[in-house]
Amino acid sequence: MGPCIFCKIVNKEIPAQIVYEDDIALAFEDIEPHAPVHTVVIPRKHITTLLDAKEEDRYLLGHLVHAATTIAREKGIAERGFRIVINCNHEGGQRVYHLHLHLLGGRPLRSPFG
Ligand code: AMP
Ligand code: ZN
Repeated sequence: MGPCIFCKIVNKEIPAQIVYEDDIALAFEDIEPHAPVHTVVIPRKHITTLLDAKEEDRYLLGHLVHAATTIAREKGIAERGFRIVINCNHEGGQRVYHLHLHLLGGRPLRSPFG
C-alpha cells in the first residue's frame, strides 16, 4: 500500500500506541493530541477518504463509530461527553489520506465548528 502511514500502523511497520483492535478496525493515540483524549480510529482496509467509502462499506463505517463509542466508555469520557470528527479532503482538514475518525474528549470542547 505504498507510503500510507496508517497502513504502516495496521501492518505494524511503524509503532503506535494502539488502544483498540478488532478484525475491521484499529485505534491508536494521536501523536499530536488536541484534547486529553484524542484517539484515531481507522479501518484496517485502506479507504482514502470518506468519499471513497462505497455502499459495501456501510457496515464498516458504522463499525468505526461503534468502536469509537466503546473506546469513549473505556476511557471514562462517555457520560461527560465527547466528539467524533471525520475530516474529508483539503478544506475539511484532512492530512492523512486513509479514512479515520478522531475521538476527542476529556475537556469541554469548543463550538461552533471551524
Ligand atoms: P487529519 O488531519 O484528519 O488527516 O488527521 C490526521 C491525524 O493523524 C492528525 O491528528 C495527526 O496528528 C495524526 N497522526 C499522523 N501521523 C500519526 C502517527 N504516526 N501516529 C499517530 N497519529 C498520527
Ligand atoms: Zn492506508
